[in-house]
Amino acid sequence: MRIAADDDGISAITRQTGRDALRENPATMSRGTTREDRDVGTERRVAAVRLSHITHRFGNFTALDDVSLEVWPGEFVTLLGQSGSGKSTLLRIIAGLTTPSEGQVFIDGADVSTVPTQRRGVGFVFQNYALFPHLTVFENIAYPLRIRAMKQPEIRQRVEQALARVNLHGLGSRYAAQLSGGQQQRVAVARALVYEPSVLLMDEPLGALDRKLRKHMQIELRQLQQDLRISCVYVTHDQEEALTMSDRIAVMQAGRIFQIGDPVTVYRHPVSSFVADFVGSTNLFDCRVSEILSDRSVLLETLAKTQFRVPSFPGAAAGLACRAAVRPEFIRIDAGGAEIGFPATVTKITFVGNVIDVQCALDSGELVDVEISGNRKDLVTIGQRIEVGWDCADMGIFPAS
Ligand code: ADP
Ligand code: MG
Repeated sequence: MRIAADDDGISAITRQTGRDALRENPATMSRGTTREDRDVGTERRVAAVRLSHITHRFGNFTALDDVSLEVWPGEFVTLLGQSGSGKSTLLRIIAGLTTPSEGQVFIDGADVSTVPTQRRGVGFVFQNYALFPHLTVFENIAYPLRIRAMKQPEIRQRVEQALARVNLHGLGSRYAAQLSGGQQQRVAVARALVYEPSVLLMDEPLGALDRKLRKHMQIELRQLQQDLRISCVYVTHDQEEALTMSDRIAVMQAGRIFQIGDPVTVYRHPVSSFVADFVGSTNLFDCRVSEILSDRSVLLETLAKTQFRVPSFPGAAAGLACRAAVRPEFIRIDAGGAEIGFPATVTKITFVGNVIDVQCALDSGELVDVEISGNRKDLVTIGQRIEVGWDCADMGIFPAS
């Protein structure tokens, strides 16, 4: 069973892990320099991007609330959150397009808080591509070089190289408006990369593409980022995209980062029921601890009086309100032998193709979503009586929110 403690508990745990502990320990930071270098073990690492206590207000509204984040060289970090959670504002602050109300931005160790966008060494890809429709593809990509007064032969060489990188060789003389959405997106990426920025920032760059092309471009962009070993901060509201592409995901809500970690950790060990529900889907049960049993295991009871017996967890005490979570793909519908099991009735079947979503009602009336593999031959039918069940290890217990 996974236990997510309260805020203090979590930070206490994460601070104990080796690398984080070193990063957080002021004794390991280099001194006597304006750069933000830090020693990690014997290795000196300078974050490609470091955000330190960024707060941003629009009038009385706090869009970002004390956000700190480090992106390591060559790392792909995704800001994942619902619309309005502050992702674009944070990206614009890294780029210098928005000046934060409070906090500092470091790029490659240097404080760039007062450095204008064009001298920060960042490339930016916007959701709507922001290409110039009346310019050719070549001139769109050449634009950042022209404003830097680069000489024509070098411009030609760099643009051709950038076109090749995004698989658009030979299309330089087309007008941007004559390209498909996927091609325009590639031009926007080429334009962001052409002056070899140290950091690539992308704000929902695939949002306008259809699903199949989006999936293709996710893999292509990730490959390009890895080939170039460029540090990347990527914004999306699409959890599947974040899981597919990222080295680490920062889950944002209401201007704060709720969890940051690699995709497997965020998915399998969410720190809160919010993260569990936002990244992937999950069945959530509002519970109370009804009893601590003599073997120290804990009896949880839902509002509808369903009981789960789970192993002891920190802070468990009779009466404690908490939330139990289990993902649909961890629930079995022929659950003889599962540690937690209930008789149930199939109420809804959604055939998705590769998977089948089966909604079941426990006898208490509580609904449970189960995901079964689409290759199962023995399909269930509505009204069928089944046994649903799962193992304690596949269940998360969170503080009540
Ligand atoms: P996201 O990219 O996650 O959808 P944004 O960073 O665009 O979120 O916005 C965060 C919050 O700040 C939203 O509530 C949005 O309405 C507000 N906001 C963004 N830009 C402005 C602005 N220029 N003026 C006022 N409010 C803004
Ligand atoms: Mg946005």
